[in-house]
Amino acid sequence: MMSQAHHTLKARFVFPVAGPPIPGGTVSVRGERIVAVEETSAVGKVEDLGDVAILPGLVNAHAHLEFSDLRRPLGEPGMGFADWIRLVIEMFRQRPGASPDAVERGLRESIEAGTTMLGEIAQPEWDHGLFDEAQLDTTVFLELIAPVEDRIARPLHLAPRHLQLLDATRHWRPGLSPHAPYSVLPELLAAAVSLSAAGRAPLAFHLAESREELQLIRSGRGPFRDCFEELGTCDPRLFPAGGRPLDYLRALAGAHRALVIHGNYLDEEEMAFLAERAARMAVVYCPRTHAFFGHDPYPLRMMLAAGALVALGTDSRASSPDLGMLGELRFAAGRHPDVGRDVILRLATLDAAKALGRPQDMGSLEPGKYANLAVVRLPQRTAADPHELLFESEEPVVGTYYRGRLVAGTAA
Ligand SMILES: [Zn+2]
Repeated sequence: MMSQAHHTLKARFVFPVAGPPIPGGTVSVRGERIVAVEETSAVGKVEDLGDVAILPGLVNAHAHLEFSDLRRPLGEPGMGFADWIRLVIEMFRQRPGASPDAVERGLRESIEAGTTMLGEIAQPEWDHGLFDEAQLDTTVFLELIAPVEDRIARPLHLAPRHLQLLDATRHWRPGLSPHAPYSVLPELLAAAVSLSAAGRAPLAFHLAESREELQLIRSGRGPFRDCFEELGTCDPRLFPAGGRPLDYLRALAGAHRALVIHGNYLDEEEMAFLAERAARMAVVYCPRTHAFFGHDPYPLRMMLAAGALVALGTDSRASSPDLGMLGELRFAAGRHPDVGRDVILRLATLDAAKALGRPQDMGSLEPGKYANLAVVRLPQRTAADPHELLFESEEPVVGTYYRGRLVAGTAA
């Protein structure tokens, strides 16, 4: 049973995200929800967590937990993207179906790292039980792949059944993830978009991730085509030539809600297209995965200036060192000194919650929202801007609260 008891947590800094940091601030909780965020609280028992920051629980908008048992990314930093995809396909062949152990490990790692909401790309064999039990909210996007005609029946069969699993009493909600331009036939993408609209479910699609993919969309040639020809999965409809990512964005705009995963190589017109639809379309930037592949600098400032909704994600341990969003935040701040740290923090909290369609319940510390909190130890020094204490530091997450309860760490 959830306790309805009222309790108050105090920290050196509270970062509500909905407003500026509060020195010596408090967060008051009743049951699962926040009831007050203020400078001092005179009501009830106050638990002083000491030299820490209280943040909204972190939101990881994009992960593939099936790779969470990898100790290090596949391949080598800077490798060609099509070559990396070959390694992933090889790994799938060695162990078909997602390993429940890896997924469970990824859930645990995420919670310990302060994540309270996750966008997970899942295989058809995914284990519901793990997500029922896990102490975080998840959108489970069923991965749909069909590069050739004879593989399309199964995802078309599974996708509507997956969306029927919607049950608001659970901690997870279903979504769909047609994988990418090079792995999804046009009719499967169209079917997924229609199902998303009809079922009011979110959709995630990898797009404009690599130069090789752009080359494929534009010319129908390059390392991706070579790879798929070798594999015998080269349907000419996947390699139409003369296209651009905007063609896919137009298709995705028909979805109830769409997450464009990566968007590393979107152009200005494409960013403007996303900005016009920021209430229903977001782009997910995965900073350390982006760095692993040595892509061109991420156009974060341009996207934000255009008005696009940007969320952060880790992607998987196949391309990122771990599943910690605090690490992604700090890395992104280092890569984008021209973007305010308050803005970067929002990308892994409130804006990521918006991207996943849950800002009314999560993503900031405000009365009425779930008491989902990440507690981060702070260095002892002082700083003019408290964001510096959070970002210019290696101090870890020491506690995670989910719906009012401490679910990882000691928070002290
Ligand atoms: Zn991905």
